[in-house]
Amino acid sequence: MDFRPTDEQQLLRRSVREFAETEIRPHVREWDEQQHFPRELVPKMAALGLLGIQFPEEYGGAGMSGVEYCICIEEIARVDPAVALSLAAHNGLCSSHIALFGTEAQKQRFLVPLARGEKVGAWGLTESTSGSDAAGMRTTAKRAGQCWVLDGSKTFTTHGRVGDIMVVMAVTDRAAGAKGISAFIVDRDTPGKTPGKKEDKLGMRASDTSEVIFENCRIPADQMLGAEGQGFVNTMQVLDAGRIGIAALSVGLAQGAYEAALAYARERKAFGKTISSFQAIQFKLADAATRIEAARLLTYRAAFMKEQGQRTTLESSMAKLYASEIAVRVAEECVQIHGGYGFVKDYPAEKYFRDVKLMTIGEGTSEIQRLVIARRLLSR
Ligand SMILES: Cc1cc2nc3c(=O)[nH]c(=O)nc-3n(C[C@H](O)[C@H](O)[C@H](O)COP(=O)(O)OP(=O)(O)OC[C@H]3O[C@@H](n4cnc5c(N)ncnc54)[C@H](O)[C@@H]3O)c2cc1C
Repeated sequence: MDFRPTDEQQLLRRSVREFAETEIRPHVREWDEQQHFPRELVPKMAALGLLGIQFPEEYGGAGMSGVEYCICIEEIARVDPAVALSLAAHNGLCSSHIALFGTEAQKQRFLVPLARGEKVGAWGLTESTSGSDAAGMRTTAKRAGQCWVLDGSKTFTTHGRVGDIMVVMAVTDRAAGAKGISAFIVDRDTPGKTPGKKEDKLGMRASDTSEVIFENCRIPADQMLGAEGQGFVNTMQVLDAGRIGIAALSVGLAQGAYEAALAYARERKAFGKTISSFQAIQFKLADAATRIEAARLLTYRAAFMKEQGQRTTLESSMAKLYASEIAVRVAEECVQIHGGYGFVKDYPAEKYFRDVKLMTIGEGTSEIQRLVIARRLLSR
């Protein structure tokens, strides 16, 4: 067991941090206020390999390891969690689903442009009446000759409006329950696919979240992703990896909030002293730093195991649950340490506080993570 980052990992962290500080930090507030998805940033992130972090170079990716994936997501989230959410959905859901279960032809056609950052990916599982209970989806795909015809809608899709390639789960055999769900790859301009309502969100506002509607949307049969009826099982495997990304996002967000709180505590004076000299503030900082380190270790362990080809359902959920919940606490204490200035937009504290709540909801709520963890423990 060796906890030291390699020289390459340290260099990677420094370069992604520098990129985030120069290319993202100056725009964070404006993008948040305007709910602007920074498409103009995509080619710059692609040049660093951030649109294809973990995919092999032969598919246009950067060929990085699981731990390096976490470092990239963390460093972007430290500055702007909304941009990190876009990266996590693009890499960890859409592209990853195609990389794991696509045919060679599908990988060449869809994964390569995604990994190169020429196209932006979206992934639609959730519907207005089925989130945690994802297998209860209503969207259907019916076979018609050489096509599948999609009807229904997806809710809360990251990149629902701006995505070029979308992986969509739909019911192909209602009677078979979860084993009657299949996945499809849908191009942006496919007739019958239209973007619906763009959500006006509490946080993560620079990441596009929209409804996507399918009406008599004909998909060529060779765009079914994975085997017929395996869509739900494959989705669970995609989420095992995706949740490591959300854990890393939570660690990075918490790190950003902690650093903001530490800097403020060193400057702000009360009763003739900096507030960092008060033990009550020191304890908050000590708790935050300790929790972040613990969450980072859980996250890297899950990433390392995934890299070794091991099943990580338990470890991914533990990392996601713990990292997201400590991030909420760290972001809240960051606001508290800022006092009234934590409540206004001149400081980053309020944005971390708004952004962080998604971490305990997206890619499976905390309640669902506890169910997954308990199921794995009890099945041993
Ligand atoms: C900004 C944002 C981006 C998103 N991006 C995507 C995306 O790209 N693709 C996608 O498919 N989805 C996406 N989602 C959807 C997200 O994954 C769901 O919102 C989440 O899974 C919860 O589903 P729900 O909202 O339907 O809540 P529900 O499932 O209705 O849950 C409501 C509450 O009930 C609890 N609950 C439900 N079932 C149980 C149970 N069995 N035991 C105990 N408690 C339970 C939940 O934990 C929660 O507290 C996104 C959501 C947001 C807000």
